[in-house]
Amino acid sequence: MGNLSENALRILQERYLLKDKNGGLKESPKEMFHRVARSVAKAESKWAGIESQTKWEKKFFDLMSNLIFLPNSPTLMNAGTPYSQLSACFVLPVKDSLSGIFETLKTAALVHQKGGGTGFNFSHLRPAGDRLSHHGGSASGPVSFIKLFDFATEQVKQGGKRRGANMGILNVNHPDILEFVRLRVNGKPLQNFNLSVGITHAFMEAVEKDADWELIHPNSGSAIRKLKARLIWDAIVQGAWESGNPGIVFLDTINESNPMISMGAIEATNPCGEVPLLDFEACNLGSINLSKFVKGTSLDWDFLRETVHTAVRFLDNVIEVNKYPDIKIKKATIANRKIGLGVMGWAEMLIQLSIPYDSEEAVELAKKVMGFVQEESSLASSRLGEERGNFENWESSIYSPNQVMRNATRISIAPTGTISILADTSSSIEPLFALAYQRRKVLDGQNLTSINELFIKKLKEEGLFSQEILDQTMTNGSCSKVENLPEKFRSIFKTALEIDPIWHLKHQIAFQQFTDNAVSKTVNLPNSARPEDIAEIYQLAWKWKAKGITVFRNDTRREQVLYKGIKA
Ligand code: UDP
Repeated sequence: MGNLSENALRILQERYLLKDKNGGLKESPKEMFHRVARSVAKAESKWAGIESQTKWEKKFFDLMSNLIFLPNSPTLMNAGTPYSQLSACFVLPVKDSLSGIFETLKTAALVHQKGGGTGFNFSHLRPAGDRLSHHGGSASGPVSFIKLFDFATEQVKQGGKRRGANMGILNVNHPDILEFVRLRVNGKPLQNFNLSVGITHAFMEAVEKDADWELIHPNSGSAIRKLKARLIWDAIVQGAWESGNPGIVFLDTINESNPMISMGAIEATNPCGEVPLLDFEACNLGSINLSKFVKGTSLDWDFLRETVHTAVRFLDNVIEVNKYPDIKIKKATIANRKIGLGVMGWAEMLIQLSIPYDSEEAVELAKKVMGFVQEESSLASSRLGEERGNFENWESSIYSPNQVMRNATRISIAPTGTISILADTSSSIEPLFALAYQRRKVLDGQNLTSINELFIKKLKEEGLFSQEILDQTMTNGSCSKVENLPEKFRSIFKTALEIDPIWHLKHQIAFQQFTDNAVSKTVNLPNSARPEDIAEIYQLAWKWKAKGITVFRNDTRREQVLYKGIKA
């Protein structure tokens, strides 16, 4: 069992460890990992004897307790409990009828209650002001229903452990698109929704050519308004500049690699964008901590291979022992068996190897590492397919007839917002946000203080450690202005805002090339960035085949989650 950081222990005690009725702890972190390993290994009994179950239980425990691989939060929180809803990601349909809308709202509430996040595409709803045939009233439109969903989410805390997260998408040809893009409540973005515009290749081409763009009624299919594509584009960019919302999902790019395209196009993703899903599908995630794989000046590829294979088996088992909040979700999820294996600790791995994040060397290594993870995860899923059978819809998938496959998708790069703190490493594929920072609002108002241990370790290794260097770094959250530090040293510790946005995007794209689902990544921009800078990033993201893109300009939200520096 590896050592847990103080922050990890606090989070585990607050939200992950099982408690009795009086709030007393019923388990230790070690017992939590045993609970999860035991529960997930139980799936083995369907295909093999108790020996196999015991063998895999030990392997799962070792990976998790040594912080080498962690599943998404709902699996850690709920496995082996009566509410073992283990997936983080769901997509639900929003039909153009009152009963359809409220049925979906109910299902979403149940998903949130058990720790999952939901994504919706609201484009099937008729526009605001549209006449309602049967009683002469007029329709509220997607934007007002999104506000309703936001309000409802606020009321359902995720098992008292976290607030529900949502993704709301509206397609760029919906008549209410401008209202959606400008959506604010009291001048602020919604509390519990990420908003993204569903964009097509045709729209991006229209923006490039400064052409007209038609807004289409979702029911009749006829154009009801024509305007310049750039008018919508500018509003999207302006919104993103002001608040980070809306982001974009590139629907055509998503469907070009949709393995189940014969079942229809994907219209939505989960809240953070890393999993495009069909209606009612859920996906469970897990992430490998790359910072644990550095061996000297290289990587331990054999250990990484073994870890990928065990992790794929773990995630496939989760589908088996999962308790789904709704029968339609159960059916859709089991039929395609999508899993999302990803990575965290990427920035820390680069630091260990003394490679600056903003370098071609880092981008090339990203492709090599993720290419390896992708290939091995496909191999692992194929082997599971031979052992346990293909997923139910396999014959309608791109893998049929030649490639045995247990899971319709294998890879997603999640934000790892909490599990990276548990693993005490950098989140996902993001650069370090700061070398010292306070994390606010994670635990309802409490502040968590973090100083990057790797920074201290490297300083000592290089014989550079001094209290003065530490103090200066802690004040600014960065070492870029610290005198007496060699340039090379400073370059490997550059933080998110000191890295040019183009390198953020290059990393996203490098990882996306080897990710069958999608990559959740924030392109951080300094406060001084202009709307044109955002437009350029969004355009490049489309050309380079990102599946979605989100930017965040520093200091544009009153309640940011991360703040740089301790003393600042
Ligand atoms: N998620 C959620 N509520 C939250 C955070 C995350 O529902 O407060 C869901 C959402 O679908 C997100 C996914 O979990 O895309 C993965 O997020 P992350 O990797 O940050 O979760 P972790 O496993 O670290 O808690």
